[in-house]
Parts: sequence; structure tokens; C-alpha cells
Amino acid sequence: MDGAKIFIEATYLLASILFILGLKGMSHPDTARRGMHLAEFGMLMAIVGTLMHFEIVSYTWIIVGLLIGSTLGAAMGVWVPMTAMPQRTALSHAFGAFAAALVGIAEYYSYTHAFKPLAELSHLKMSAMGFEIMLGSLTTTGSLVAFGKLQGIVPGQPLVYRGQNIFNMSLLAVTVGLFIYLIFVPTAIIPFHVMLGLAFLFGILLVLPIGSADMPVVMSLLNSYAGLASAATGFVLSNNVLIIAGTLDGFSGFILSILMCRAMNRSITNVLFGAFGSGATAVLTEGEQGIMREVGLDDIATQLAYANKVVFVPGYGLATAQAQQAVRELANALEQRGVTVKYGIHPVAGRMPGHMNVLLAEANVPYSQLYELEQINPEFPSTDVAVVIGANDVVNPDARDNPQSPIAGMPILEVDHAKSVVVLKRGQGKGFSGLENPLFFKPVTGMLYGDAKDTLTKLVGAVQHA
Ligand code: NAP
Repeated sequence: MDGAKIFIEATYLLASILFILGLKGMSHPDTARRGMHLAEFGMLMAIVGTLMHFEIVSYTWIIVGLLIGSTLGAAMGVWVPMTAMPQRTALSHAFGAFAAALVGIAEYYSYTHAFKPLAELSHLKMSAMGFEIMLGSLTTTGSLVAFGKLQGIVPGQPLVYRGQNIFNMSLLAVTVGLFIYLIFVPTAIIPFHVMLGLAFLFGILLVLPIGSADMPVVMSLLNSYAGLASAATGFVLSNNVLIIAGTLDGFSGFILSILMCRAMNRSITNVLFGAFGSGATAVLTEGEQGIMREVGLDDIATQLAYANKVVFVPGYGLATAQAQQAVRELANALEQRGVTVKYGIHPVAGRMPGHMNVLLAEANVPYSQLYELEQINPEFPSTDVAVVIGANDVVNPDARDNPQSPIAGMPILEVDHAKSVVVLKRGQGKGFSGLENPLFFKPVTGMLYGDAKDTLTKLVGAVQHA
């Protein structure tokens, strides 16, 4: 091995180690920032190693690509607001997957257009290449549709029609069939292009029937496809760092999808093919109907000011209201009066994994005050006031008590065990599942209507004067 090759392999090895350490760091909020920096440094190493590659004949286009990519990336990092992270991630997935598909297509053309000897195109190589092109293409269009749904360009509701799943599965079967055919007859140009077109089409049709609120699960699944496509690229190009990074990406995306589904007590197939949110499952439970008790702001301020322990339970409404700073100010006001403040964080509160953690971190809420579901649930019986801020499904007791409920079995934050519950929401709006929430009718619960940011800001003043 010559010096350059040893240098390249050493940078790839270092990059792979840094990716693994980065992933480990990102598994906890305290170490997440460090993990991110390690992974960034790993990516830099991988790029430096790749730029040393002996196959590079000219740096012109590489520099153009680096400049365009870096400018776009920096602009997105600086200007895209935190609340638009899901669609930004979807767009990045589309770019990554498209890059993988393009590398595969270019490599395929290099064999079929005599730039490389056709005899070297083994069955194994064609399998990896076909896999990369198929997954890369469907992930590109799937991620673009996910971006469109999250950005509101494409209707967010599931677009469903009769026989949809059968049609989509047939389309996938034909695409996979062509892929297998190409492994044995790689020079079949027309089947190649049909497979390419069908893969792009399948990505669109796969994501259209899925509601926008399920997009985070879909995206982490697409992320895992993009990762596997990159790993396949690594096999095609005999590039170790792509194989390792792609596999890590592929499996971490898949594990994240499974964890999200588990936290919602739904299967991946239900997310992909259940058209959740289209109205079919949005039935009202017969639950505990009764009267929703509205309480005044001053009464709640007094309750909070004289409590020993208050637990805030944020949900999607906190994100839409952008009330993270206001909740921190209320917590400060309470702590100044000697009240113990904690936050109960449900794994699928909001609309993306870690949504609440990201928002609360933005307001500098200390990580030590954030409690996971299993940690905080035993604490509710000793909690004086549980303040539900724009959360609904994640505190719906029907998930625990009503086996007929569509969300039966989903673990919830058991705020109804607290001595008193205050729910901050704008009106009678349902949550993501579209279900009625018996919590709002319980005698222990008081409703405080209004935009969460507005209400919390008023509560800060009222607590200070209580
Ligand atoms: P949710 O069930 O969607 O409920 C949000 C509540 O916030 C609504 O009832 C709404 O009622 C209220 N709200 C909206 N804007 C508000 C504002 N400006 N001020 C005050 N309240 C406001 O939210 P969640 O309890 O966080 O549950 C998350 C749901 O998303 C779960 O069903 C979960 O399975 C699903 N999901 C999550 C993820 C994830 O990764 N986190 C992924 C996929 C699906 P009003 O309209 O009356 O105000």
C-alpha cells in the first residue's frame, strides 16, 4: 500500500470511530452537543480522505460542489427556525439519497457506455448498484413529498383511494422484479430506466397516503433507506467509510422508527399503510363525558404559587405557541417562591423525536429538571399541580383505561393522578389522534383557554402578585 492509500484508510478509520462516538454522545441531551461535534469532525475527516483519492482527475467540479453545498448548508443552519427542523431534515434526506442514486447511475453508465470493462460488472456489484439506485431514488421522491407535507405545500392529510395498498405493493413488486432481472442481464438499458422511473414514482406514492403528523416516523425510515443506499454505494465504490457510515445511519434510523412506533403503541405497517389521521380512526370515545370545568387565571396562579411541587407537561401546543421561554419564566417565578418544578417529557410529545427537549433547551431549561415518562409517573400522586401545556394525546387516560380506544396501550403521562390538573389549550381542539380526551372532563381538571404563550405570560405576572 502506498502512502496516500494508507493516509486515506487512516482518515476513514478515524472518521468511522468518530461517527460511532458521535452517535453514542447523541443518545443523551447532556452529551448531544459533543456527539454532534465529534460526528462533524468525522465527516470532515471522511471528506479530506476522499479528496486525496487517486481516481480524482480534476478538482474543478468538486470545488464547485463543495462551495454550493457548504453555502446551502450554512444558510439552512443559520436561517431555518427550530420549528422547521422536520422539513429541513426531510430536504437533507432527499439531497443525500439523490446523491447516492446519482453515484449509482453514473457507475452503471460507466459500464454500459464502455468507460469501464463490462466484464468487471459482477452479479454482486450489479446487486449493490441496483439496490443503491432503487433505494436512493424512492427515498429522494419520498423525502421530497415528506418535505412538501411538512411545509404545507402538499396537503398534510393522508391521500387515500380504494386499492391503494395493493397498487403500491404491485408497483414495488414490478420494481424489485426488474432489479433482479438486471442482476442477471445488466446491459438491459430499457428495464434499467423503467426500474429507475418506477422507484421514483413509488417514493411519491408511498408517502402520499401518510398523514403529515406521521412524517417523523416516515422520515426516520427514509433516513434508514438513505443510509442503506449509501452503504450499497460503499460496496460499489469499495469505500469502507461509506459502508460503515451508511450502515450506522441505516440501522439507527430504523431503530428510531421502531422506538417512535413503540412509544405510540403502533406498528410500522400501521404507520405506513394505516392512513392514520384520515378520519377512519378518528372516532370519539364514549369515555367519561361530563362538564369541562373552566377555571380563572387568578385561581390557577394562586394554586401554583402556594404549591410544593408543580410538574409541567408540554406537548405539541407548546411548539405551535412557541411558549418555551414563557414556561421557563413561569418556572423561575415559582422557584423564587420555593416551589419545586419538574417537567414530564413524553417520547412522542410534539411532532418529532426530542421535540420538547429541543424547545426547552432553547429556553435554557436545565436538563436535570426534565424527567422521562417512567421517572415522572410515580411522582404524580405527590404533585400538587400538573400543568398540561398544549398536550393532549400523551395525557389521554383512555390509552390506559379503555381497551377499545384506538390508542389503547400507548404509554401516557399519568397527570390525572396529580392532586390538581390544569390544562392550557385554545379551545376544544383534538390532538393528533383526533380522539376525545376524558382527562378534560375529570373533576380534578381545570381548563384555562387561550394561546399557551399568552396564558403562561399572564400567569407569570399573576404568580408574582399572588
Ligand atoms: P396533540 O395530541 O397533537 O395535542 C396538541 C394540543 O395542543 C391540541 O389538543 C391543541 O388543542 C393544543 N394546542 C395547539 N396549539 C396550541 C396553542 N397555540 N396554545 C395552546 N394549546 C395549543 O399533542 P401531544 O399531546 O404532544 O401528542 C403528540 C401526538 O403526535 C401523539 O399522538 C403522537 O403519537 C403523535 N406523533 C408524535 C411524533 C413525535 O415524534 N413526537 C411523531 C408522530 C406522531 P386546541 O386546538 O384546543 O388548542
